[in-house]
Amino acid sequence: MSDGERAFLARLNPPQREAVTTTDGPVLMLAGAGTGKTAALTHRLAYLVNKQLAWPSEILCVTFTNKAAREMRERVGQLLGDRVEGMPWLGTFHSIAAKMLRRHAELVGLESNFTIIDTDDQIRLLKQLIQQAELDEKRWPARQLAGLIDRWKNRGLNPADIDAAESEAYANGKGQQFYRLYQDRLKALNACDFGDLLLHMLNIFRKEREVLSQYQQRFKYIMVDEYQDTNAVQYLWLRLLAQERKNICVVGDDDQSIYSWRGAEVANILRFEKDFPGCKVVKLEQNYRSTPHILGAASGLIRANSERHEKTLWTEQDAGEKVRVIGVWDGPEEARRVGEEIERLEGEGADLNKVAILVRAQYQTREFEDRFIQIGVNYRIVGGFRFYERAEIRDLLAYLRVIAQPQDDLAFERIYNQPKRGLGAKTLEAMHRHARANGLPLAAASLQLANSDELPKRASGTIAALMRDFLRWREMSETVPPAELLRTVVQESGYEDMLNKDRSAESAGRLENLSELARAMEDYETLGDFLEHVALVMDNDASDETEKVTIMTIHAAKGLEFDNLFLPGWEEGVFPSQRSLDEGGLASLEEERRLAYVAITRARRRCTIIHAANRRIYGQWTSSIPSRFVEELPDEHVDSETTMTGGASLWRAGFSDRDDPFAHVARDAPSRAGSRGPGWQRAVASGYDATPKKLPESRRSAASFAAKPRTDIAIGDRVFHDKFGYGKVTGQEGNKLEIEFEKAGTKRVIDSFVQAA
Ligand code: ATP
Ligand code: MG
Repeated sequence: MSDGERAFLARLNPPQREAVTTTDGPVLMLAGAGTGKTAALTHRLAYLVNKQLAWPSEILCVTFTNKAAREMRERVGQLLGDRVEGMPWLGTFHSIAAKMLRRHAELVGLESNFTIIDTDDQIRLLKQLIQQAELDEKRWPARQLAGLIDRWKNRGLNPADIDAAESEAYANGKGQQFYRLYQDRLKALNACDFGDLLLHMLNIFRKEREVLSQYQQRFKYIMVDEYQDTNAVQYLWLRLLAQERKNICVVGDDDQSIYSWRGAEVANILRFEKDFPGCKVVKLEQNYRSTPHILGAASGLIRANSERHEKTLWTEQDAGEKVRVIGVWDGPEEARRVGEEIERLEGEGADLNKVAILVRAQYQTREFEDRFIQIGVNYRIVGGFRFYERAEIRDLLAYLRVIAQPQDDLAFERIYNQPKRGLGAKTLEAMHRHARANGLPLAAASLQLANSDELPKRASGTIAALMRDFLRWREMSETVPPAELLRTVVQESGYEDMLNKDRSAESAGRLENLSELARAMEDYETLGDFLEHVALVMDNDASDETEKVTIMTIHAAKGLEFDNLFLPGWEEGVFPSQRSLDEGGLASLEEERRLAYVAITRARRRCTIIHAANRRIYGQWTSSIPSRFVEELPDEHVDSETTMTGGASLWRAGFSDRDDPFAHVARDAPSRAGSRGPGWQRAVASGYDATPKKLPESRRSAASFAAKPRTDIAIGDRVFHDKFGYGKVTGQEGNKLEIEFEKAGTKRVIDSFVQAA
């Protein structure tokens, strides 16, 4: 062993070193989060090159994201000096497959300069096919078909492999036929979609033995990170490539399998030993990332899952802080609180690049973005558009802009045919011509056109109707609050309908985003105020060198780590998501729990989990209850805190059993129904209240910050409470009132929930 070699191996622990230096034959590293799997893989890559066991171009190394590939390339570079210029086969499955397919395109009827189409193009193409077949696209949406075809491709199935039963999933058995038509059409366009990249290559490997053998010879070593999230086609592909030399090393963690909704099969990692008999299994148990409390919390949580390999994780780090669980009043307070903490961290000199907020769903980022803009915290959104840049948000903002400002041509052009109204490019051309000729804004010009006979009758009718809508909305905007206007527009424009008919997974997210937009608008009195706010938000483009807080989804954060981590929205219905609760059964609940495990294990030093007692959804205040995952965190690793007033007992005092906020938790999880663990008490202590309420902003902040007794209510007053109705005040202590309700009996309630009657 050379000195250099010894030096870089010295940084690894014995099992990591074993994985690195076992170069012959299959190796499986199945180990928990933060145990240095990716680090070991990176070192192994460097080791193979350094020992001259292979040229960089003879190693196939698959990472989960392009970013991960870049990082790995950099680290290998650091380990080896400058010997890594070429690592042509280090990348994601898609990037590697695309590179291969360019070389062999003709074998599947494509030319090497084929185009890779995105989801939008895919949908457009399928729509054309559906229309040509004279099928009702409303009944059988293109998105549904797209999803189906993607799933087939993820499973490695070609049109010929689709049997009658599978085919039933679309248009009464026409699934297979459309899949075939679609593939033919792509070929005619010299194009392929993402799923094709792998499937075409798999087909080539299966049919063209010499091509397969060429790659089997070339790749002396194969390595795969995040193996637990490979899908069937990726698995088959790897198996063929590794068959000859069997020098394949895969690493992963079954507890971190979070992509089954995209066809990933955790079984792939669990059966690796069977696929490659005699493989070396390396276990890593020392975690180098997190403090013992963070690890303890994450390990305790994942233990609630039924199907898993139990793993031991330990760390030499100092205990550090416990995981904090904070109960706040509502969404705005959640964002305010995180903002304050980040300002404090900044004051302490913390590197903001090492601070992250991980959310369950994209729409959750909005509240943080707005807050950070307000207080001047730089942030970046990773793996998604910033909230106001998303397509559906931009569309609705365009409607609002046309309402506020009929001369806004750009906005009008964006939505005149969105949702589709059958107004094509020709109509737009005519509108532009008329606008230019008469010096009119586009909207006004189109109205004039509609009243002339220059356009086909149908187009004229459609435009006239749209302009009537705008007129009505404009009138409305003068009297109703902006958020209500938005909700009306979403409905009346047909936008909601369009999303409802679209059965893809994204469309639900889009609807959520729109209701989040309405939420944001609740805080503004006029449409103009709101649009100005948005214009400012959109302009917040801090340069790339500045330190920034990262906001991203948990899914996108896989494999990453941050010193300070905030995990907001840990409430039933947000996380676990409502969808997983409604339709998924145990399997999808367990996937949500793995996601929670991935989330916590991203934290190095500090992890803060937050849940709000109230969320405004579709303009309605709904009370929410803390996530069952909060309850499942072992008590000894958690510090609970509430920004709310009053102790648990007082808070509880107002409830009868019927109001039990946990009744439905008990229903969902019968095993826990009888015994409420410490988590439950914690949840109550952190200020949960089951009373639905609608409060003006001023009162909300008062209620959420401190016990400021109200002076406008005194003993003997008759009051009204949102939930309990009318009653008479019989006692007052701080901000708590004892009230004898006419129907509900005597209760103690927080004074901000009552109005003088
Ligand atoms: P995940 O499951 O989240 O992908 P992982 O198992 O891939 O985690 P790594 O990201 O490789 O873990 O490593 C976690 C952290 O531990 C990194 O900061 C890494 O630099 C550090 N690390 C890994 N191995 C060692 C080691 N032997 N000594 C010191 N630090 C290490
Ligand atoms: Mg990793």
